[in-house]
Amino acid sequence: MSAIASNLQAVRARISKAAKDAGRSPDSIQLLAVSKTWPLSCILEAVTAGQRAFGENYVQEGTDKAIAAVHQKLDWHFIGPLQSNKTRPIAERFDWVHSIERLKIAERLSAQRPAYLPPLQVCVQVNVSGEASKSGCAPAEALALCQAISRLPGLRLRGLMAIPEPSDDFLAQCAPFRQLREIYKHLRATGLPLDTLSMGMSHDLEAAVAEGATIVRIGTAIFGERNYA
Ligand SMILES: *Cc1c(COP(=O)(O)O)cnc(C)c1O
Repeated sequence: MSAIASNLQAVRARISKAAKDAGRSPDSIQLLAVSKTWPLSCILEAVTAGQRAFGENYVQEGTDKAIAAVHQKLDWHFIGPLQSNKTRPIAERFDWVHSIERLKIAERLSAQRPAYLPPLQVCVQVNVSGEASKSGCAPAEALALCQAISRLPGLRLRGLMAIPEPSDDFLAQCAPFRQLREIYKHLRATGLPLDTLSMGMSHDLEAAVAEGATIVRIGTAIFGERNYA
């Protein structure tokens, strides 16, 4: 078995255990393999091991891979910061965007989504307490942003995403995930048909699953340490 295949097996086992510990079905959590910086050959190894959904952070790199692997019919998720002058290749080549933080980007993606494709599935990134970066909308802005996005014809709003500051402490990891889930519950209570909480990475997926994650975004634990050089 390749290293990537055995890493995938180990990550799936972690998700299953975390789900059982939380009294949840493992099937309610989707594994997104974050393949940024890794060549297509690594993605294809993961595909051989049964992985279908891949996350990318950079427009050019992600688009190149999605085009190169087009016959594999994989699911491509854009999870990185998105500038408004770079939305078109994402609208044309990706299935999901997790990192929407302002309406202008959403409007461009909607307008640029080709009519022959289903609506682009999107999550709004929220800057919960202890956010690792400055990205994401403020929690108090999430409702208005989601309501506006839900009216865009080229998009299908699925849920919320967050990237909290790394912590080694389980309870400290849980707190921002719980905050995101509370916002999610509030938005659903207003009638928005959300079904996705995109949260949890290699070091904190157990805490994210405990707090209700439906998509975990895992890079290092599958592909190894990234080298940005
Ligand atoms: C890189 C990245 C990940 C994966 O992080 P790992 O720690 O390697 O699992 C997940 N989400 C986002 C938004 C990322 O940029």
